[in-house]
Amino acid sequence: MLNGKMYIDGAWTPSISGQTRDVVNPADGSLLGTVARGGAEDVKKAVAAAKRAFYEDGWMDTKPAERAGLLLKAAGLLESRGEEFAALETKNNGKPLRESVFDVNDAVSCLRYYAGLATKPHGQTYDVSDPMQAMTVREAIGVCGLIVPWNYPLLMAMWKIAPALAAGNTIVFKPAEATPLTAVKFFELLEEAGFPKGVANLVLGPGGAVGSEIAANMDIDKVAFTGGTETGRSIMRAAAGNIKSISLELGGKSPNIVFADADFDIAVDYALFGIFCNQGEVCSAGSRLILEDTIYDKFLAALAGRAKKIRVGNGLNEKTEMGPLVSREHMEKVLGYIELGKKEGARLLCGGNRIVTGGLDKGFFVEPTIFADTTPDMRVVREEIFGPVLAVQKFHGEEEALRLANDTDYGLAGGVFTNDGAKALRVIKKLRAGITWINAYHPTYCEAPWGGYRQSGIGRDLGTYGYEEYTEVKQINISLQPAETGWFDK
Ligand code: NAD
Repeated sequence: MLNGKMYIDGAWTPSISGQTRDVVNPADGSLLGTVARGGAEDVKKAVAAAKRAFYEDGWMDTKPAERAGLLLKAAGLLESRGEEFAALETKNNGKPLRESVFDVNDAVSCLRYYAGLATKPHGQTYDVSDPMQAMTVREAIGVCGLIVPWNYPLLMAMWKIAPALAAGNTIVFKPAEATPLTAVKFFELLEEAGFPKGVANLVLGPGGAVGSEIAANMDIDKVAFTGGTETGRSIMRAAAGNIKSISLELGGKSPNIVFADADFDIAVDYALFGIFCNQGEVCSAGSRLILEDTIYDKFLAALAGRAKKIRVGNGLNEKTEMGPLVSREHMEKVLGYIELGKKEGARLLCGGNRIVTGGLDKGFFVEPTIFADTTPDMRVVREEIFGPVLAVQKFHGEEEALRLANDTDYGLAGGVFTNDGAKALRVIKKLRAGITWINAYHPTYCEAPWGGYRQSGIGRDLGTYGYEEYTEVKQINISLQPAETGWFDK
């Protein structure tokens, strides 16, 4: 039986308004279940519980080892139920099962990484000019509001929940409206692991009501957000009310540069993986392929040949390589961009259609799509499509490659393929992006910081940076020779 309730102050609860929302399987449009549709009042209730748990119930005084123990327990529970979580993620989001399995394993690693980090040294000491010992300690910020999108529902949740709790905060978490199911299940595990009531709260509902209340609420001390750049902008504005600490992981339109001297087959393979993995619904997707002119035609022929072979279908089918888009609304947005690309004069190399054959007519399937001969002014080159649509650009020489690559408002990720080591590093160092790869695309590790330049965000998830985002720094000065100052006459 599907649990569609919210988890507030240690109790499973419907929304105060009584409203609900249907959750749909994007592979066939079938109803997966009905969940609570919360609003601002539910957020307020969750925030009050989180505040009390932090200040009055003693969560702020818990020892790191205690928090680590709880997170390790949650990790063990998640690992033991990995198959169930992976299948549910695929049903709700659409992604192929093998990707959901990856996500669940990554989520377990993330919990363990931050459990480990909780007990490691975090402060520093300073030698100063007085007989004074100066040092810093890191302390929890307080109540953290965490908001995530639908493309990696469980994994994005973990990137925020794990460090926030490890660092000693209490949380109010909101998943995306379309994909709440693995988050609800995960909160069942947090409860089972023994987190005290009020420490971890789950509120379900729309961004406009639940998300905006989290961003604006005066008792939330920090908001950590992953989602679109426009939403990030409105969160920044709302967070100004109480000068909340913010971290924003936003959109991207990331360049993948392939030089003629790259290993051809490896570069083709990663170009494909960069855009079509997770249906292209990846913030860091290599959605702009920037190809050296001398290999342009040969590379495109090989790429299109392989793109046409990608097996699109229900993610639960183990042969499936690419699933449906997350919702009808999103599919229509992506198809709209494909039409736009054609109108703008880009050359449609392959794909371009919704798939309605082979029993896929009720789902939200779109063919792997490649536009060649695009120009920097086209909207399909400038805007994040967030689907299986690749825009290809041609370059001549390193300088032009970089000019095209950096010609974007975003700055999330980027890749370079070449067998010239010096050139690879030279180009990567000039790329204005926060996450980069040389001769690879996409591998992501919870040990290393994740985030973007420019309009791709503020702050970093993951790694020690991702932990520090959930802490305040306190300076402590201890006099080693207490004495009067002699500053004012007695
Ligand atoms: P979105 O911005 O529409 O929604 C993200 C979350 O914010 C959802 O939970 C939504 O309900 C909530 N939200 C919506 N309006 C809000 C508001 N006014 N105030 C507060 N919360 C609000 O994004 P999406 O369509 O769910 O996800 C796709 C976007 O996420 C893409 O732009 C993608 O690049 C980005 N993304 C970024 C990263 C990263 O690490 N940089 C990772 C994954 C996805």
